[in-house]
Amino acid sequence: MEVKYSYLDKQFGEPEELLNQIRAVVGTGFFTLGPQVPEFEKKFAAVCGVKHAIGVGNGTDALMLILKSLGIGPGDEVITASNSFVASAGAIAIVGAKPVFADVGADYNLDPAKLEAAITPRTKAILPVHLTGNPADIDPILEIAKRHRLYVVEDAAQAIRAEYKGRRVGSLGIAAGFSLHPLKNLNVWGDGGVITTNSDYLDEKLRLWRNHGMRTRDEISFFAHNSRLDTVQAAVGLKLLDELEGITQKRLVFGRLYDSLLSDVPGVVLPPRRSDVFQVFHTYIIQADKRDELLRFLETRGIETKVHYPTPIHLQPAARYLGYRPGDLPATEEQARRILTLPIHQYLSEDHIRYVAAGIREFYGRG
Ligand SMILES: *Cc1c(COP(=O)(O)O)cnc(C)c1O
Repeated sequence: MEVKYSYLDKQFGEPEELLNQIRAVVGTGFFTLGPQVPEFEKKFAAVCGVKHAIGVGNGTDALMLILKSLGIGPGDEVITASNSFVASAGAIAIVGAKPVFADVGADYNLDPAKLEAAITPRTKAILPVHLTGNPADIDPILEIAKRHRLYVVEDAAQAIRAEYKGRRVGSLGIAAGFSLHPLKNLNVWGDGGVITTNSDYLDEKLRLWRNHGMRTRDEISFFAHNSRLDTVQAAVGLKLLDELEGITQKRLVFGRLYDSLLSDVPGVVLPPRRSDVFQVFHTYIIQADKRDELLRFLETRGIETKVHYPTPIHLQPAARYLGYRPGDLPATEEQARRILTLPIHQYLSEDHIRYVAAGIREFYGRG
């Protein structure tokens, strides 16, 4: 058996229906901000249980434009996690603010107990990442933010449809950034992103920030970016939104199956599972003794795994100017040496999941 990590070649085996929708866009000539964009935004907002969704060019721009619209820039600090895709910190840095990293807990998300030590008089916001599609423990984070008068901006790129105590991800802070990159649970045929917010003020601002600050064709309110969700991509996104429940359900079933097959394996540590969250398993990450050997062993069985992410952001060359040293974020760094991402995409079957789990059990002598 072969278990591939990547699946994009499978995703559009029958693209005809989608191609017809794109042909319809081409026929109208509405390539920028055509009617499919607000239609997609309305449906996306409904999925997140928020008033507003704003389609933008990609997930990185979503975060960057949120920070811009909150007035965050040079001289300000924003706290985030270091075990994320680089864009969580990159968005902070490109608005001119300073990324500050706080350590994570066993759930791979920002540890509320470690947050306050990272707050300074310059801190303006906390940017929790819902890594793997598992919501960060947001209530204590919101409580700390309130006490220090900070914004909470969600990096929800991996977590569309996830819930924390009955509230959907995307509705938990002042605003949230989503990515529609091909490898995300909800994707388009290239780059795309979405911002969600319940704030009418931010909604109005963000629509200007993504479109040259243009209030009307002839009136420019302020100099801004050009970062819109393409009409063609909105048409693709609309189609895939209809499939989101099915995609989520499949990943959830596979996640629970892995949990049940791996929970008793010595050498494997699963993250704690909370009963008051709904996680959407963008990735399935374990901690494993002898991680690199396990990775190679699984490879010999035809099982492709990945490491998300081998080098934490604070130890990347890009972050050198921030002055972090190995040892500054002990949990993040320890996890980086131990984490392994197992295949969990919606084109697998339960047999694939059982096969992967059997390989891991065999490696640790529990076959
Ligand atoms: C994918 C991702 C992003 C960036 O999204 P792009 O659309 O690729 O710009 C940001 N944060 C996290 C956690 C991501 O996984």
